[in-house]
Amino acid sequence: MLRFQSNVSLANLNSFGFSVVAEEYVVLDQTSQLPELINYVRTRHLPLLVLGGGSNLILADDIPGVVAHIQLQGYQLISEQRDHVIIRVAAGEPWHETVKRSLADGYYGLENLALIPGSVGAAPVQNIGAYGVELKDRLKRLQVYDTQTEALVWLSPEDCQFGYRESLFKSMEPNRFIITCVEFKLTKDSMQVNLGYQALKETCVKLSNNAAITPDHVFEAVCYLRQQKLPNPSEIGNVGSFFKNPRVSKTDYLSLKKRFPALVGFADKGAYKLAAGWLIETCGWKGQFIDSVGVYDKQALVLVNRGGGNREQVESLAASIAESVLQTFGVRLEVEPRFYP
Ligand code: FAD
Ligand code: NAP
Repeated sequence: MLRFQSNVSLANLNSFGFSVVAEEYVVLDQTSQLPELINYVRTRHLPLLVLGGGSNLILADDIPGVVAHIQLQGYQLISEQRDHVIIRVAAGEPWHETVKRSLADGYYGLENLALIPGSVGAAPVQNIGAYGVELKDRLKRLQVYDTQTEALVWLSPEDCQFGYRESLFKSMEPNRFIITCVEFKLTKDSMQVNLGYQALKETCVKLSNNAAITPDHVFEAVCYLRQQKLPNPSEIGNVGSFFKNPRVSKTDYLSLKKRFPALVGFADKGAYKLAAGWLIETCGWKGQFIDSVGVYDKQALVLVNRGGGNREQVESLAASIAESVLQTFGVRLEVEPRFYP
């Protein structure tokens, strides 16, 4: 039986650290509770927010309806072959601990995604990515509770319609599917590493003392690099990258590169991906604050709350940043995290 609580503070459950209050809050720790949850919100016509770690959400002060905090637990080896394994991890497990545990078990492939905050169940929502690896590259399949048909269903990576920080869950039907568990296909080959990002490769070379680079080196290097550049949400509120890196055509990239020779961009499937952090920094925003929210001084793609900030302040700052990037470069920035409601 679910236990609904009224007027619950979510100040510790959103990584921006905003003073947010949920009208109703419930912890979901059994898959079998899902029909009861959906029946509760349907019969009362209440809005529902599915919450993981709150590290990709920008919440208003008051959240109407029900916030369902997913705390399903479990990590299981499903099958083992000579060269790879399938592991199943429940949606409420913390992402970084899952990466650590898989490496300790000798299952490799998640190390580039170390130190990303949040839960396993939210990871497919924006197809989390870092240092050249995306969740979709390691996904075998995932299970959802379909709130429309009220049934548990397995979805393949193709079903999930993954894109760059995008998926079916984010773009098309944000409230239809509740992810209950995720299965990963991981290699047992400790020589398979992805070192496409320059800084990662250089740090791994140093850490390994020029010996063979292993997934453990990659894990250590990713943690080191992230700690240098990103604010720890438990110390300063943030939701990671605030904007997606915009894609432009090759023609637009070359003309921008002529005007701004230092422009940072990468060839990407026939187009170019621009580093949004560089665009924002070049517009002079790095380290600037308006009220309590501002642009992090070590990475301009991250907006931070130095205490007392709220959603309106973030919206206003983000709009000013996007406008100056548009005026300077003619490039439109798109917000990465989800505003709710
Ligand atoms: P929440 O913020 O709780 O929810 C995010 C969205 O997912 C919401 O729409 C929510 O309704 C939905 N959701 C949550 N759980 C479920 C579920 N079980 N079923 C269905 N929907 C669900 N992201 C990256 O991609 N790469 C990075 O490198 C990265 N680095 C970050 C660094 C920092 C310091 C921070 C603060 C954030 C970073 N992020 C990054 C963003 C964020 O951590 C990820 O998007 C993460 O997956 C969000 O997980 P969460 O559990 O906190 O989700
Ligand atoms: P970085 O290494 O300084 O690189 C800046 C940008 O250039 C990144 O956004 C990255 O794009 C792109 N890039 C760098 N090398 C690339 C290459 N070899 N090929 C293609 N693209 C390349 O970035 P950072 O800020 O320190 O972050 C490191 C990684 O962590 C990045 O992958 C970033 O996406 C990820 N991260 C994500 C979040 C989030 O909230 N989404 C927050 C923090 C860090 P990509 O972003 O596409 O990788």
